[in-house]
Amino acid sequence: MLYDLIIIGAGPAGLTASIYASRYQIKHLLIGSRLGGTMVWASMIENYPGFELITGADLAQKMMAQVKKLGVEIKNTGVLEIKQKENIFELKTENDEVYEAKALIIATGTQRQKLNIPGEADYLGKGVSYCATCDAAFFKEKTVAVVGGSNAAVTSALHLADLAQKVYLIYRKRPLRADPIWQERAQKNAKVEIIYETNIMGILGDEQKVTALKLDKTYQQNEQLKVDGLFIEIGGQPGTELMKPLGVELNKEGYLKVKPDMSTNVVGIFAAGDVANAFGEFRQIVTATSEGALAANSVYRFLMGTKK
Ligand SMILES: Cc1cc2nc3c(=O)[nH]c(=O)nc-3n(C[C@H](O)[C@H](O)[C@H](O)COP(=O)(O)OP(=O)(O)OC[C@H]3O[C@@H](n4cnc5c(N)ncnc54)[C@H](O)[C@@H]3O)c2cc1C
Repeated sequence: MLYDLIIIGAGPAGLTASIYASRYQIKHLLIGSRLGGTMVWASMIENYPGFELITGADLAQKMMAQVKKLGVEIKNTGVLEIKQKENIFELKTENDEVYEAKALIIATGTQRQKLNIPGEADYLGKGVSYCATCDAAFFKEKTVAVVGGSNAAVTSALHLADLAQKVYLIYRKRPLRADPIWQERAQKNAKVEIIYETNIMGILGDEQKVTALKLDKTYQQNEQLKVDGLFIEIGGQPGTELMKPLGVELNKEGYLKVKPDMSTNVVGIFAAGDVANAFGEFRQIVTATSEGALAANSVYRFLMGTKK
């Protein structure tokens, strides 16, 4: 099946690209392994215009509903491989389906970054989590730690504080890099204790679950911090693996290099959202949606032959 456009990624960037592509009447397919993308893990979003406060899952559901209403063909699967045959891109998915397109929008976002410390893999699902929204309920009245200093880390700590008895927020630097409003809320929350300039060296536990963290310096005279769980919120790594064989240029941090119109160095391949470098370090839902819209507009002009 030959499409004019295939959008890979069903987060805010891919979904917005699909809404715009529908309005430009571009025959397109949307493929995403996790419908809604990373925002489904956000417990409270207070910076997306039009919604004073909304959960990521609700916002994702609203965007998905808008796309579905436009009649977009959606495949909930992963793309395993992309080959370029002259001016056509051939995609192979996890369920062995093959699709072709004249243009691609890559909106694959980021994958959760790992700490790469002893115990992390062993205790995944036994106290170690990368998603407070998904797993907070398991830690009612427990003691947990969150590692990271970003908005995602601080909002996760605040969300956990609603249920847990105690939340340590551990950050390797000082101050936190979250927005001032989140920092203030964390500092004022009696259940949240921030431990600055400290690294976690290992995750300790028994056969069943996490019991403590090994820190690189003593905290209140203890080398170990007793916790029932650890939430790892140290950002993401761009999902660029698919792009490497196609020769798409990356910047030095590993993100897809895009021009102001979201085109890459490979003709016919555009990118949008967290996977791209358009806004530097600033990766948000509002930037992802903007880039998705811009990428769809550029694809429209590309397909019309008004732009290379
Ligand atoms: C805990 C947390 C809280 C956050 N809170 C906020 C907030 O309050 N406000 C805010 O603006 N931002 C927030 N963010 C950031 C926001 O979620 C991201 O900036 C945004 O989701 C990026 O959108 P995206 O579409 O670029 O990528 P993503 O949302 O990451 O979507 C990527 C998509 O690509 C798919 N994909 C990846 N690889 C493949 C493949 N090979 N084949 C098929 N599909 C693939 C994924 O399944 C997914 O559908 C938060 C993030 C986290 C983790």
